[in-house]
Amino acid sequence: MDILQALCEKHRAQKGTLYVVATPIGNLSDLTLRAISILQTCDCIACETPSIVKKLLTRLQIRDKRLFTYRDDGERQSAQHLLQKLQSGLSVALVSDAGTPTISDPGFRVLRLCHHENIPIVPIPGPSAAIASLSVAGFPSDRFLFLGFLPLKKSHKQKILESYRHASETLILYESPHRMLSLFECLQKTLEPQREIFVARELTKVNETLYRGSITQLAQTVFTSTPRGEYVVLISPLL
Ligand code: SAM
Repeated sequence: MDILQALCEKHRAQKGTLYVVATPIGNLSDLTLRAISILQTCDCIACETPSIVKKLLTRLQIRDKRLFTYRDDGERQSAQHLLQKLQSGLSVALVSDAGTPTISDPGFRVLRLCHHENIPIVPIPGPSAAIASLSVAGFPSDRFLFLGFLPLKKSHKQKILESYRHASETLILYESPHRMLSLFECLQKTLEPQREIFVARELTKVNETLYRGSITQLAQTVFTSTPRGEYVVLISPLL
């Protein structure tokens, strides 16, 4: 048995346990050995989108795994339903479409319930776009505020940005590509034009691109037309 197989063997899923498994945000090679082992050996996988997980399992040559949908706001796919599976002794891996479950993704309701019911919970850490971008931004990272997706309405977005204007921490935002221009408009309206911004696009994928500059520089050079891909936006505190 080689070292990789031995490591995978060592981390077999245990009965009645919930594993919160991070999956790649673009690059399959970022899947950890423990994640592979848990996905191989768990009884079933709770996921956001079964077709996405099926593709991942096919690439890992994992066959015949039971999948079911989990959403924090679902009824049939509810936390209670997942809890019953765990209480019946099944080992369950919770995954999201990409990255770490519960980080702007489903999971918190079932975790709250599992803590309450004393169900064993094991994190299987791995990629998350927020931490990957923070690790390369060159902004203070001893303290940071993860704001996730801001509200869709511009006025609400601006209100939130204004409320964090004097924050002494780096701010981390997720944003969809078709709202990037609107986000930059809000940044220009609420923060100083020279405020440093870092944007990570398509992290770990072939088109990975990192942008760093003032709000004005980026608004005038990069974000002039609707961009494509996935983005994380970081705002430096005033230093
Ligand atoms: N749970 C995920 C995580 O741990 O990063 C985040 C899921 S959230 C629904 C999706 C958002 O994460 C995207 O809209 C984008 O802002 C960010 N994101 C995910 N993958 C990314 C990537 N490869 N590059 C840049 N941003 C990414």
